[in-house]
Amino acid sequence: MMVKELAKEMRKKFSELGADVPQKEIESKLDLLVNQYRVPEEEARRTVFNQYVRDLKLQRGPQGSESPLTKIKDITSDGRWISLKAKVIQLWENEKASISQIGLLGDDTGTIKFVCFAKSDLPLVEEGKSYIFKNLVTDSWQGRFSVKMNKTTTVVPTEDVEVANNDTTVTGAVVDVQSGSGLVKRCPECNRILVKGACVDHGKQDGEYDLRVKAVIDDGRAAQDIILNQEMTYKVTGIDVKVAKKMAMDAVDPAVVYDEIKRILLGKYFTVKGPVLGSRYLLVKDMQPARVQLDLNAIVKKVEGI
Ligand SMILES: [Zn+2]
Repeated sequence: MMVKELAKEMRKKFSELGADVPQKEIESKLDLLVNQYRVPEEEARRTVFNQYVRDLKLQRGPQGSESPLTKIKDITSDGRWISLKAKVIQLWENEKASISQIGLLGDDTGTIKFVCFAKSDLPLVEEGKSYIFKNLVTDSWQGRFSVKMNKTTTVVPTEDVEVANNDTTVTGAVVDVQSGSGLVKRCPECNRILVKGACVDHGKQDGEYDLRVKAVIDDGRAAQDIILNQEMTYKVTGIDVKVAKKMAMDAVDPAVVYDEIKRILLGKYFTVKGPVLGSRYLLVKDMQPARVQLDLNAIVKKVEGI
């Protein structure tokens, strides 16, 4: 896209946000970045956009009317003020002190990442609960959309929102059980994993015990990262928090839990099912041992090829 067209498009977006910005001004900023500094177009666009948002205090919110209630699948451009009625499908681990919560929202049309910054000072949302989020701003990064909460955002609990079924099924061998699996402690304030007994945000904490597994399953074509929460970990390994604590205490080493989980899962075949979050992690909702059907034709071909 030419700088001129890009500037025109951005001017339109600003005017939707209630700001009148001269096109020539946008054009010259873009021209400097794209043509002189060789910044990629998309990055230049973001840079200029963010600068105006800051300078013009566009964060104050939509002028006049309320942000329209939108379905997740209809989020197709960034910098828009919208409202969502959605369920918090998952809260992700987050080590940045500037971010209070990050995770995934879902409605009956899809899922989208959300970010809430600590400075917005909003109440924390809970996994599995549904809310009406008013005044979110859409954003995008490398073609993927997200929504950001801000100071004007309101979060009101609502009845359960049905989430589109976007489950993926993979049958394969567990080829890796990653460190960080097993018995962990979480910050009671923000749910982050404690490192050496401390939360990045809330300092030294006693913490609450949790169990989880991060692993990789490979179906012979591709590797898929999977996550098992406490409940799934128990279903598959028979280890619950109580058992894990006893194991760790007896051995005077929490790593025994990790070793045992590894022994149970590594190299075994399973069928796992669940939503793939943020295009990376499959959150396991169901996991069954799989009998592997040996594909004789494929094996014969491989042998013939030697
Ligand atoms: Zn914390």
